Amino acid sequence: MTLVDTPATLTGGPSLAQERRLVTAIPGPRSQELMARKAAAVAAGVGHTLPISVVAAGGGVIVDADGNSLIDLGSGIAVTGVGNSAPRVVEAVTAQLNSFTHTCFTVSPYEGYVAVAEKLNELTPGDHVKRTALFNSGAEAVENAVKIARHFTKKQAVVAFDHAYHGRTNLTMGLTAKNIPYKSGFGPFASEVYRAPLSYPFRDGGLSGAEAAAKAISVIEKQVGAENLAAIIIEPIQGEGGFIVPAQGFLSALVEWARENDVVFIADEVQTGFARTGAWFASEHEGIVPDVIVTAKGIAGGLPLSAVTGRAEIMDSAMAGGLGGTYAGSPIACAAALATIETYEQDGLIERAREIGSVLIGRLNALRTADPRIGDVRGRGAMVAIELVDPATGAPDAALTNAVAKYAHANGVVLLTCGTYGNVIRFLPPLTISDELLIDGLSVVAEGLKNA
Ligand SMILES: *Cc1c(COP(=O)(O)O)cnc(C)c1O
Repeated sequence: MTLVDTPATLTGGPSLAQERRLVTAIPGPRSQELMARKAAAVAAGVGHTLPISVVAAGGGVIVDADGNSLIDLGSGIAVTGVGNSAPRVVEAVTAQLNSFTHTCFTVSPYEGYVAVAEKLNELTPGDHVKRTALFNSGAEAVENAVKIARHFTKKQAVVAFDHAYHGRTNLTMGLTAKNIPYKSGFGPFASEVYRAPLSYPFRDGGLSGAEAAAKAISVIEKQVGAENLAAIIIEPIQGEGGFIVPAQGFLSALVEWARENDVVFIADEVQTGFARTGAWFASEHEGIVPDVIVTAKGIAGGLPLSAVTGRAEIMDSAMAGGLGGTYAGSPIACAAALATIETYEQDGLIERAREIGSVLIGRLNALRTADPRIGDVRGRGAMVAIELVDPATGAPDAALTNAVAKYAHANGVVLLTCGTYGNVIRFLPPLTISDELLIDGLSVVAEGLKNA
């Protein structure tokens, strides 16, 4: 094996030059070399959106091994809200690395884990007494939320929604709606998972939140029965399913029904959490108080950490030893989470998410006025999407979506798509991106639409 000679090490973080700069085609020769090694060494099922070899990132850019600097409109899927290599995170993680790296919290505990739990209990919606348990990934936290709800209610069924995404482990695949690529051939799936219709204002004929909730509740009552139902799990704004914002009143009606029927209401805020939508959590926009809230992605500045936070009586129902994991709540990830939360607070990033949202919504609505292929512009804060359609029929246009994404990638913009029908372009920039970069990135998307 020959080693690719390493490019000069670049320091990431906000001091990295904040510019879109293309010095080779994308992917350049060094990136292509890595992709060839990847194809030979990495399982083909581990795909990638943009075939570059990353060497540094920070602020609003990602730099590759060929010296290209790309605008980051994805944040590694809503993870690096505080930016890559955020200074407080780097400092806290470095200090933690130098004191100890691992003991396993369930063997010998440490303060960082407890401090993260205290912080989450304080920040999540509702002023009831709460408890938190930490895990490694979003999917692992979702699995644990369901375990806890079942243990507490002594019931088994779980209801998830159309277009839902909850992860790639066995239970979470079952909860996830979309077949390809997430489920096909990977069954059998866990039993006692049922699906209810969602409020999808652009595609459900404009049902009100109350009407859509009545429809979902009817399905739940007829096909499952509250007496069998442990939990309802829902993303307050669906992520992978297409950035679908339910009609006002949909979520609150579900919460109310769950409360009346001894069903645990679980909000999966893995993608919507931590300042992303212009609030700490998206549940706040609807004024709902979930019984249990699942968080991950934006929690720790890129280090793997997830959490389940909920009503004390629910969370405390599982016996000691029933929850945990070797690496769950790693001291390094906890140090990163505390520094990340401090960064959202100290740097006004919730407010910044709202500003980013108004730039995105304003410019995308202007594009939409002139281009009927943009069927819908939606989202909250720095979680915004456009749904691309055939203007004549309203049918989803995945080919156009892919063409725009390809154009953006070739022109130095990391742009993500999503949606059950593959026809949604989503914007999830780091909250540390400048207006200049954001607007430049949007202009590339506009050119991509014009060229397609
Ligand atoms: C990404 C995501 C998950 C899964 O998180 P992983 O860390 O990838 O396991 C679960 N729920 C939602 C809403 C997500 O966006």
